[in-house]
Amino acid sequence: MTVSKYPEAVVFDLDYTLWPCWCDTHISPPLKPKSQSQIIDSYGMKLSFYPDVESIILELVANNVTIIGASRTATPSVAKKILNLLHINGKPAIQYFDALEWGQGSKTKHIKLAAKQLGMNEELEKGGFILFDDELRNRDVASINCHFAHVPNETLGLTRNVFENGLQSWAKTAKNI
Ligand SMILES: [Mg+2]
Repeated sequence: MTVSKYPEAVVFDLDYTLWPCWCDTHISPPLKPKSQSQIIDSYGMKLSFYPDVESIILELVANNVTIIGASRTATPSVAKKILNLLHINGKPAIQYFDALEWGQGSKTKHIKLAAKQLGMNEELEKGGFILFDDELRNRDVASINCHFAHVPNETLGLTRNVFENGLQSWAKTAKNI
């Protein structure tokens, strides 16, 4: 299966979508890099992105898709540190995100803020956004016309299969933009 059409923006949840932990409860700072693709916390717990994340991010960049992070984590500083320490293709992962939104409450708020900040209100209204997230409660983003793609398995996280199925179901429902 190949992707034939990309949305304007892909929004990623972080915990259990890009990496296999809750960074506010499972991670104990200080964090140190063990390699470009792995970090270690003060208790020796190692953390990396799920295996397909790097190639998915690079594919989105290659296709000029805006990348947004949206997290309800209570510790944005830990999440930012992880994104700074984990590298994708030699660059800190955080540099691939065009916007990062944080805080409690519905992700409709995060996504509306990101769209405003990036000057992409119209693209959002027209259905050009998709959110990948492991928590079904966040499917309420459909109310602002953001397509919801569920990441169903916390052991596997964002896989290529989940990614391509999400884009396919988005392409079927999206209006032409
Ligand atoms: Mg999550």
